[in-house]
Amino acid sequence: MTVSIDFDGVIHGYSQGYGDGSVYDPPVEGAAQFIFDCLMVKGWSVFVMSTREPDQIKEWMENTLFEGKEMPFKITILSSKARFWNAKKNIGITNRKIAAHVYIDDRGMRFEGSFEGMLEQLEVMKTWQGK
Ligand SMILES: [Mg+2]
Repeated sequence: MTVSIDFDGVIHGYSQGYGDGSVYDPPVEGAAQFIFDCLMVKGWSVFVMSTREPDQIKEWMENTLFEGKEMPFKITILSSKARFWNAKKNIGITNRKIAAHVYIDDRGMRFEGSFEGMLEQLEVMKTWQGK
């Protein structure tokens, strides 16, 4: 299984929105453990997908999310040609959409096969931080 994880609002707190573009918040509680468990307990492939520059995310994950510790997995910036990510013990980072079995995102809406009621759901949609 491949799991895609959004960065802002899922891994990075993002309490003040994009602002000046810096990564200013601490990690969301449990984010590092969740990613660790996906990789090392479940053996899944994981990549982080964000509109941010992957370099910025990689540096923050190494230094802040994983506190500069030696970890039993790598963090790899994906090539712009990548369409799939099946690597094990290796967190991919991309700012392009690539294939995954599930996308974890604070701004996602699950499509259930019908557009009925979706306009109304969109009008009241809030992120967890906006509630
Ligand atoms: Mg987000």
